[in-house]
Amino acid sequence: MIPFDYRRADDVDSAVATVTGNPRAAFLGGGTNLVDHMKLGIAEPELLVDVTGLPLDRVEELPDGGLRIGTNVRNSDLAAHPLVRERYPVLAQAVLAGASGQLRNLATTGGNLLQRTRCVYFQDVTTPCNKRTPGEGCAALHGYTRYHAVLGASPHCVAVHPSDLAVALTALDAVVRVRRADGERTVRASALHRLPGAHAERDTVLEHGELITAVDLPPLRFAANSRYRKARDRASYAFALVSVAAALDVADGRVRDVRLALGGVAHKPWHATLAEHAMRGGPATVDAFQAAADAELAEAEPLPDNGFKLKLARNMIVSALRGLAGEDAP
Ligand SMILES: Cc1cc2nc3c(=O)[nH]c(=O)nc-3n(C[C@H](O)[C@H](O)[C@H](O)COP(=O)(O)OP(=O)(O)OC[C@H]3O[C@@H](n4cnc5c(N)ncnc54)[C@H](O)[C@@H]3O)c2cc1C
Ligand code: SF4
Repeated sequence: MIPFDYRRADDVDSAVATVTGNPRAAFLGGGTNLVDHMKLGIAEPELLVDVTGLPLDRVEELPDGGLRIGTNVRNSDLAAHPLVRERYPVLAQAVLAGASGQLRNLATTGGNLLQRTRCVYFQDVTTPCNKRTPGEGCAALHGYTRYHAVLGASPHCVAVHPSDLAVALTALDAVVRVRRADGERTVRASALHRLPGAHAERDTVLEHGELITAVDLPPLRFAANSRYRKARDRASYAFALVSVAAALDVADGRVRDVRLALGGVAHKPWHATLAEHAMRGGPATVDAFQAAADAELAEAEPLPDNGFKLKLARNMIVSALRGLAGEDAP
């Protein structure tokens, strides 16, 4: 047992100042990921600053028609919110596809976004892992790679990002609001997480002490026609092998606009910009969806155990888009 201190934050500024001033302090949301890591020996904070008492727990309508989700909105409440279900079904479906009812009751929006990879070698402190200890090596490179990345990996890390919520937020082009010691900044959801490059230890672009306060969903009318699909090894309580978040706007048989992101394929939620570009303005047909999926996956580099992810991703992209275009789409 490694001793640590626990403090409940009274206000945003002092929470940020406390964590910023102590490199061994960490924010605590629902604790469903961080506390596991403390038990496993992956994280050893000397101070936990519990932010769940801060008044950042509401879903509010924005003047432009979008929604602001406070960081402390619990995953269950987010998925059940009537405006989320009506305007952004992909988001409600993504949240419900993750974890279990009990975990979703505790897990927060900010904590979910910042959960760490489920790479088994990362979670096993007896194996080398550059994400845990930079420079140590990567056990997965010569290990079992069924669950690992096919896009954007590096020789330093081939892990995938685990959050379903983050994939939906990437597709929706949501904006993450961040408080730091010298003010506030915003980060697009698609730019929050990073590819590993030579720094596998860094999951996101956030600096130590930066607090997520909210996530803004843009007004996106066609997001009402959206869905989340997730393939996994068992029906619940499992992370994605591949997931697809898609929103589609079709008029007169042509794609007026489209949003697409993939989960389970890279170190970050994968914004499928090549596929989006290939589809915009073109016919809403199965052939066009297949061609778009192929364009997105052309640069994929599967590992020995996960080549199946390419076909799976292609099929899931086409199936999700076809469902949104109408099952009778040509
Ligand atoms: C068995 C199991 C199965 C699961 N299955 C899935 C799944 O299928 N899909 C899925 O998406 N997830 C899954 N999860 C993960 C679960 O969704 C996360 O554990 C949860 O969302 C984390 O939220 P939390 O509030 O508990 O975060 P915490 O554990 O409290 O925090 C996580 C990280 O975020 C930081 N943090 C928390 N709040 C903030 C903030 N406001 N600003 C800055 N940093 C912050 C913490 O310091 C910590 O580093 C599963 C978890 C378990 C245990
Ligand atoms: S893939 Fe990444 S997280 Fe997994 S062992 Fe290698 S460096 Fe660690």
